[in-house]
Amino acid sequence: MAVTRCNLSYCRMRGIMSLLTAFIKDRKMGLNDFMQKLVSCPHMCQHSDVRGFLKIDENQSEGNEEIDEFDSSLCLNAPRSALTEETQIKPCDFHYLKIIGKGSFGKVMLAKHKETCKYYAVKVLQKKVILRKKEQKHIMAERSVLLKNLKNPFLVGLHYSFQTTDKLYFVLDYVNGGELFYHLQRERVFLEQRARFYAAEIASALGYLHSLHIIYRDLKPENILLDSQGHIVLTDFGLCKEGLEPNGTTSTFCGTPEYLAPEVLQKQAYDHTVDWWCLGCVLYEMLYGLPPFYSRNTAEMYSNILNKTPVLQPNVSNAGRDLLEALLQKNRTQRLGAKQDFMELKLHSFFSPINWDDLMAKKIKPLFVPTVSGPTDLRHFDPEFTHLPVTSSLCNSDTLMVTSSICEAAGAFPGFSYGPPDHAFH
Ligand code: AMP
Repeated sequence: MAVTRCNLSYCRMRGIMSLLTAFIKDRKMGLNDFMQKLVSCPHMCQHSDVRGFLKIDENQSEGNEEIDEFDSSLCLNAPRSALTEETQIKPCDFHYLKIIGKGSFGKVMLAKHKETCKYYAVKVLQKKVILRKKEQKHIMAERSVLLKNLKNPFLVGLHYSFQTTDKLYFVLDYVNGGELFYHLQRERVFLEQRARFYAAEIASALGYLHSLHIIYRDLKPENILLDSQGHIVLTDFGLCKEGLEPNGTTSTFCGTPEYLAPEVLQKQAYDHTVDWWCLGCVLYEMLYGLPPFYSRNTAEMYSNILNKTPVLQPNVSNAGRDLLEALLQKNRTQRLGAKQDFMELKLHSFFSPINWDDLMAKKIKPLFVPTVSGPTDLRHFDPEFTHLPVTSSLCNSDTLMVTSSICEAAGAFPGFSYGPPDHAFH
């Protein structure tokens, strides 16, 4: 009897438990829906009862940099601006056609705006990954650099930035001539005239950034693109700050180590001259076919960067070799550009055939024009990416999910969203 009674109460208990679980689940879903409606409606958030309920004025982190504590069940402590940020556009405004590249935090997609039918490169970053790597400051820096850049012809233009709970989106000019080094790999080296043209356009972009007190720092092959006419476009303003690990392994965020300046490698103080070193590396690779300190053995390559004088074969003109030597000075205080920055490069004899005003006005005709039949012609992109399936998840990501890590991600990028003042889609 006792056993039967015990079994009965156990069954009943299980029944009650499953009823309770279903009830809680149901309520949680309802609350989730309610919260989503609430936070997406800015004027409701102003109501004092709503503010009290949301505890909106409490626990907002200083400077809104990061959420230190959060209610793991309901996102209540996320900075208000992040959740209610009004954006004109959303992920579903685009058709995502192809993956065209991958960076450290996410992917770059070719996308077509549904209304205007214009093509853009949409860079989609996973907030979780950025937070895990503690890189939110750099991503916000990338956004603010992109905003400042709109006027330079050789820097990628930002049209919009917006966010959902789990992702950040940059809507950029779509640049479809391929990576510069995709073309270099096919041709092995460039003729001096062609290399000079690219180096001059890159230098003017870097000089422009320096004039805004921005150091690009992360010039590397995959960030130098060609547009459909054959002009340079620099992308990726993540401003990588992490250097190399002392044991010789690179941080994945930093990407290719070949172009790292000695001072970065040694984790010493660096300034704008770091970009002139990188330009020296790019120019060297364009003229000789390999980075200046290249070795298959990474440790040896680091040692070369720190100790070895670059080999300058005589198949490059005296002016070219002189410029390379001046840019690849290990001591940054003696590097070309250390005193008067871009002006010193402009005046170097290697660039004497360049009319800098014409260059800035894109009046110098590129010697090479990439063959592209139209915006959807992806022949210059790596099939490794373009063959990847485009997931439909991009359109679903604006759902407010209630999990602690997404709660944290949701509020970690206040003020990220950007749209032009007239609100028209450009
Ligand atoms: P990123 O994350 O900015 O380093 O971009 C990763 C890759 O995506 C780059 O190496 C390019 O091949 C590609 N990519 C980035 N931005 C653009 C763009 N605006 N247009 C076309 N391709 C791009």
